[in-house]
Amino acid sequence: MTREDGSPVDGTTQKNNGSSSSDKPLSDIPQAIADEWSRITENLRNDIGDTAFRSWIRPLSLKSVSSQIIHIITPTRFMRDWVQSHYADQILSLWDQNVAKAHSIEFSIEAGKNAAPQSSSSNTSEKPKSSLIANQNAFASELKQDEIEQLSSPLDPRFTFERFVSGKSNELAYAAARRITETDIVSFNPLYIYGGVGLGKTHLMHAIAWRMRETQPERKVLYLSAEKFMYQFIRALRFRDSVTFKEQFRSVDVLMIDDIQFISGKESTQEEFFHTFNALVDQNKQIIISADKSPNELDGIQERLKSRLGWGLVADIHPTNYELRLNILRSKAEQLGANIPAKVLEFLAHKISSNIRELEGALNRIIAHAELVGRPITLEYTQDVLHDLLRANNRRISIDEIQRKVCSHYNLRMADMQSARRARNVARPRQIAMYLAKQLTSRSLPEIGRKFGGRDHTTVMHAVRKIEQLSTEDPSFSDEVSLIRRSLNEPNS
Ligand code: ADP
Ligand code: MG
Repeated sequence: MTREDGSPVDGTTQKNNGSSSSDKPLSDIPQAIADEWSRITENLRNDIGDTAFRSWIRPLSLKSVSSQIIHIITPTRFMRDWVQSHYADQILSLWDQNVAKAHSIEFSIEAGKNAAPQSSSSNTSEKPKSSLIANQNAFASELKQDEIEQLSSPLDPRFTFERFVSGKSNELAYAAARRITETDIVSFNPLYIYGGVGLGKTHLMHAIAWRMRETQPERKVLYLSAEKFMYQFIRALRFRDSVTFKEQFRSVDVLMIDDIQFISGKESTQEEFFHTFNALVDQNKQIIISADKSPNELDGIQERLKSRLGWGLVADIHPTNYELRLNILRSKAEQLGANIPAKVLEFLAHKISSNIRELEGALNRIIAHAELVGRPITLEYTQDVLHDLLRANNRRISIDEIQRKVCSHYNLRMADMQSARRARNVARPRQIAMYLAKQLTSRSLPEIGRKFGGRDHTTVMHAVRKIEQLSTEDPSFSDEVSLIRRSLNEPNS
């Protein structure tokens, strides 16, 4: 069911607007207005180009115009959101110039589940009526755009490339994700992104989906959590509909599965996923996977699947460093329109190192607090509001870790921390470690002394004073100590 121009007709049976195209308007649209609508959309085509026009404008139909409100019908929710944010202003101003004063556009979604042919797919929309119908019969279980939206897990509108801050720890994953959206040539399959919790895996996957829907709307991009994949699969089994399930998943162009570790131990889901995976790779369709571990560290996943997962590009997102955290904070503060002193941002970036989700949470919390009580955001205020969070982030560091970090920094052996050697190149790092133990843990001086080969608490006290003194005298020494201190705040390093 297409109009002469190939765009979809709203074919829900309960609605009698089968003639709602621009040249054959609804009965409540005067012919003159309908003509204007065609002119306006033609105008838009010149502005935005043919591809965007075919994807976004042609599927629209004008429903009515009343009290300066233009009612437009779109076949899917996604299309509505997209047109609203990208083209509504242009449509309005063209309407203003060409027809009459209009002050807003209202959209309604009118397409039954199967009513709207896949409007954004260039290959179907170019086909004449009959072949489209034949096509639909032949591939009864091929996915249509709105079905994809239903199968997909929801996409967070904030998770875009524009809002993703890249740095050393995520640059490979970021570049690979960008790369996938810039071409339809599959250069690595799958892209496997892994890393700890809250480091941006889901953000990147959503960003890929958003960008592809924008620039390559004809490709069918399906994003879902591994949990939802399993749920769909089990549902298909229950309704004895696994053929449809298979065909549906095998007809997408890009399949993204988030948190694949979820299917560990789930044998039949893994089996199904394995076959889907192979079928898509065979057809040269892009697969993107995320997980919390590298493929061969995944527990409870079949060996053959693990090996397939590692076939393409494996991109590891590392824990953040101070600089990236600070950049993320700056960018979020700017997005939120909040004016936050640099000192406060630096403090947060320094103290909250576990993950980005927590960092974001902390920022939101102080902004909300400050707004509520109407106080400016200062360092003291921040420490006050976040004291529980800050404590939790401090707790982790142990004397052992400090010793290990100092040893690796100065290329010493752990035994040197306990030994009686007094050579400067050993004694000084040992003092630094004692100093950091005092600063970063809640251990007492005697406890610290015991960890350093049973030294007396006065020795520890002396070390602390010595390091403090050297730090004030020599800025480069002080920098060195802060460098070690900062790297201790980075998890898993
Ligand atoms: P994961 O899926 O790895 O657990 P998410 O993608 O859900 O993590 O990210 C957690 C939060 O941190 C989200 O709000 C996300 O927007 C934010 N975030 C993560 N990485 C970045 C980044 N590089 N730039 C900006 N925000 C980020
Ligand atoms: Mg995630």
